[in-house]
Amino acid sequence: MSKSILLLPGDGIGQEIMAEAVKVLDWMQAQGLTSLQRSEGLIGGTAYDQVGTPLPAQTVTAAKAADAVLLGAVGGVKWESLDYAVRPERGLLGIRKALDLYCNLRPAQVFPQLANASTLKPEVVAGIDIMVVRELSSGIYFGEPRGVETLPDGRQKGFNTLVYYTDEIQRVARRAYEIAGKRQGRLCSVDKANVLESTELWRKTVIAMAADYPHVALSHMYVDNAAMQLIRNPRQFDVIVTTNLFGDILSDEASMLTGSIGMLPSASLGDRSALYEPIHGSAPDIAGQGVANPLAMILSVAMMFRYTLDQPALADRIERAVNRVLDAGLRTADIWQTGMNKVGTAAMGDAVVAALTD
Ligand code: NAD
Repeated sequence: MSKSILLLPGDGIGQEIMAEAVKVLDWMQAQGLTSLQRSEGLIGGTAYDQVGTPLPAQTVTAAKAADAVLLGAVGGVKWESLDYAVRPERGLLGIRKALDLYCNLRPAQVFPQLANASTLKPEVVAGIDIMVVRELSSGIYFGEPRGVETLPDGRQKGFNTLVYYTDEIQRVARRAYEIAGKRQGRLCSVDKANVLESTELWRKTVIAMAADYPHVALSHMYVDNAAMQLIRNPRQFDVIVTTNLFGDILSDEASMLTGSIGMLPSASLGDRSALYEPIHGSAPDIAGQGVANPLAMILSVAMMFRYTLDQPALADRIERAVNRVLDAGLRTADIWQTGMNKVGTAAMGDAVVAALTD
């Protein structure tokens, strides 16, 4: 039975890079390599402009019905003065919650052709291949009570709550163990168990599951040390699993080791749904100029073939094609260096499609 995907281009460069991902999908379909039912929906500021909300009910329904969602990016200066409840970013948080996407995968991989793009020394970053598995639907971003209160003495009190239930920890840890088992077999659980009780529970729960994964070597690190070790010796990590807040920060840090925000894809997985998107935003500063790097979006398509569509050979093929265009010296402006061939968004997408042919 053919699978279905929902495309949500969103705002800014989201629309430009989605057009390049579609070229890859068109090529795959034309070659008969995959047969996907595709539909498109509204999200973010574009949805707000057209129907008055950043996450129309129709989009949620279509996303729930699809096997996977491909998302460009949301947000932009135009919508920054709107009330928080209808900001484009609300659409993104809303769809993650609606699809119960509890597991966020952020690979940080250095393409050898771009090792010089990092702010760290090339010998420190060369060969980095880290997968950060971040809990995405619980923890302090969602815990209750939360808010800002004015006290009788006139002071204000701002508060949030860090809550984790055992089953929430188990389901994301299970994914992390499985992924580590398919990679180098090393899983590092990051917490702050020396200070925060809820992350002490996190650690105990992850340890209690270790016996089910005898081929995975489990280690633990406090988050402050992990932040330091990622800079000091990033190659020591294979898979990192951590809470929502720590994962938000560490995955940004890990991805920046590679020096190229326009290159990094991500996946957000639930038990019934999955959403794939580049890690970057809508880049309002370059939107509409045709210069955005479409490779993170195209690599998100590769992740979709690997993790949801069970077609890892097509994922490999896309990743090979991206390597080929980099080998050939093609670079969008964000990763351009002297001596390389500077190309725009569409030319980069076309080159990847041309390189898909084995
Ligand atoms: P950003 O990721 O959009 O841009 C940061 C910088 O990286 C900019 O200079 C931009 O030009 C550059 N950049 C990003 N992607 C690029 C690409 N593919 N090719 C070349 N250069 C690229 O982050 P920001 O500027 O902090 O946020 C802009 C808007 O995006 C905001 O409204 C923010 O809320 C939103 N945002 C959305 C998402 C998402 O949709 N997942 C994520 C982050 C930020």
